[in-house]
Amino acid sequence: MSIKKILLYGGLFLLLVGSMYYFFSRTTPPEPQGTRVIAHRGYWDTEGSAQNSLAALRASQAIGVYGSEFDVNMTADDQLIVVHGPRHGEIENVQNVTFEEARAYALPNGEQIPTLAEYLELGKQNPDVRLILEIKSHATPERESFVVKKVLEAVKAAGVEQQTEYIAFSLHICRELARLAPKTDVAYLSGDLSPEELHDMGIDGLDYNINVFVKNPQWIEQAHFFGLTVNVWTVNKEEDMRMLIDNGVDFITTDAPELLQQVLQEKE
Ligand code: MG
Repeated sequence: MSIKKILLYGGLFLLLVGSMYYFFSRTTPPEPQGTRVIAHRGYWDTEGSAQNSLAALRASQAIGVYGSEFDVNMTADDQLIVVHGPRHGEIENVQNVTFEEARAYALPNGEQIPTLAEYLELGKQNPDVRLILEIKSHATPERESFVVKKVLEAVKAAGVEQQTEYIAFSLHICRELARLAPKTDVAYLSGDLSPEELHDMGIDGLDYNINVFVKNPQWIEQAHFFGLTVNVWTVNKEEDMRMLIDNGVDFITTDAPELLQQVLQEKE
């Protein structure tokens, strides 16, 4: 065979392999990587920590979880804060007061409520821990669209777009996120939609209460069939953790991340 022919066939062969790789890498859902740990509201159930505090994010970074979850609300004067709400201190709903009023009440560990910017800045220091950002439901769809826009701007400004995943109870928020950040993972929390319905809306995962999966165990397999991820909250009992790991869920969100890490290690 002449050199020319060898080069020609070799080139064609490489082109074929390359295009097959490109095709399959785009259409095959990612290989399951086993169940991964998400710390619910950070690792708050530990010395000096509190739910949604910077200390809780730091503690989750220190034990090396897959992701650390936190809650985002917008105050009446359009500031994004990391706090569960709606109640905080003497305030009935943090969304109805100003940033200054909300910050007047400290968290149980003495920390101030973090701004979203402060929280993301700390998150960025450990790129191995993914930021699982829950946008809380707000008063109207218009307000929710505005919150989504502001959150996406804050995430971009902090340079953590690749490190952040989103979750929300509000379907409107999930759909806005899917529309405005189509490459980002968005999971729905409310538990009332099937994997197929979520898939049709362009939502990437279901993140449901454990009771929803007890009632609809087939949803785990169906979700994977449609290329959706499965996250389960809030799982603190060892027997539940074992049951969910055995059923192949992708993520477990827990207040006891170290216990879950132990259970997973034992299973390996
Ligand atoms: Mg939450």
